[in-house]
Amino acid sequence: NKLGVALVGLGSYAEGQLAPALLQTEHCYLAGIVTGTPSKIKPWQERYGIEDKNIYSYENFDSIANNKDIDIIYVVLPNSMHAEFVIRAAQAGKHVICEKPMATTVEDCDRMIQACTKAKVQFSIGYRLHFDPYHLALTKLVKENSIGKLKSMSAGFGFSIAPNVWRLDKTLAGGGPLMDLGIYCVQAFCYLSGKEPLAVTAKEGVKTDLKRFKEVEQSISWTFEMPDGIIAEGSTSYEDGMNFINAKTEKGLFELKSAFSYNGIHGKSSLGTLDFKPTNQQALQMDDFALCVKQNKLTRVPGEMGKRDVKLLMAIYEAAKTGKRIVL
Ligand code: NAD
Repeated sequence: NKLGVALVGLGSYAEGQLAPALLQTEHCYLAGIVTGTPSKIKPWQERYGIEDKNIYSYENFDSIANNKDIDIIYVVLPNSMHAEFVIRAAQAGKHVICEKPMATTVEDCDRMIQACTKAKVQFSIGYRLHFDPYHLALTKLVKENSIGKLKSMSAGFGFSIAPNVWRLDKTLAGGGPLMDLGIYCVQAFCYLSGKEPLAVTAKEGVKTDLKRFKEVEQSISWTFEMPDGIIAEGSTSYEDGMNFINAKTEKGLFELKSAFSYNGIHGKSSLGTLDFKPTNQQALQMDDFALCVKQNKLTRVPGEMGKRDVKLLMAIYEAAKTGKRIVL
């Protein structure tokens, strides 16, 4: 039996990636939607066969507690709204997936984890790359020491953003490209190395467009000092396109191009080219969570990991603001 998922917020990621992925999942399916835009209801119902009784607004959302069709609530709203809806989902007794970044403050992360613990529901973050074969293969390569110890990594993720979007609103987004895209580099440094940073230095880039970047940074770069002398250099931008991971080890190197994309990743290491058949990251991610719920196992991408990353993002901002090396 498949678990029922309800998506909260029917924006581009929910519509373009998550809902289609839920047609491919084995352990869960799209059972419900929660939306503030009534005009979206009919097309979604027609496309996904969603029953009238499984449709909610933000106002009547809490009554989802009484709906046996819904097992998992997936929050896909702007960043600063994650906390409220994750907490309401937990209080409704539902397991929760929350998109990245988990929240815009560490205090919100704490409240979200507490609510899920108290309600005895499982909680995970939408970190899809923990299920991607390229990222998994390189993590294994490092773990097994196949080309010697990891020495250094660099990663960059950026694109040119359109004006007038919530991602440029500090209150809703919590920050600029670091919150949205840099988080992928932070994540990759942690799972590829299997370690967490010890200290950080950072520098915000120059703003060339003061209109779009009135509230948030246009770009930022940082350096993590990691255990065993590993150095990780991250860079993110809402103007310059970049999407890569490079790493050096004692005996070689590895790299990913289109590193953080949904598909079309290219990878190679000193041992050769990586070549995996296309997969659906979101389907793998949601199926894994559904299985964790069914089997009462801990997800590999729990709320605690989301909180760790929000802490690291805040430390990067602090380092950039003060110009100081921040010890973590
Ligand atoms: P979007 O702008 O396309 O969608 C946001 C949705 O929230 C819309 O349906 C909008 O109507 C709704 N909303 C409710 N209140 C709002 C408000 N006050 N302002 C703006 N929108 C409001 O955004 P998206 O790209 O779908 O991103 C949603 C979340 O998913 C973000 O947290 C983002 O970081 C995350 N995301 C994750 C991935 C991934 O690969 N894991 C990819 C894209 C987005």
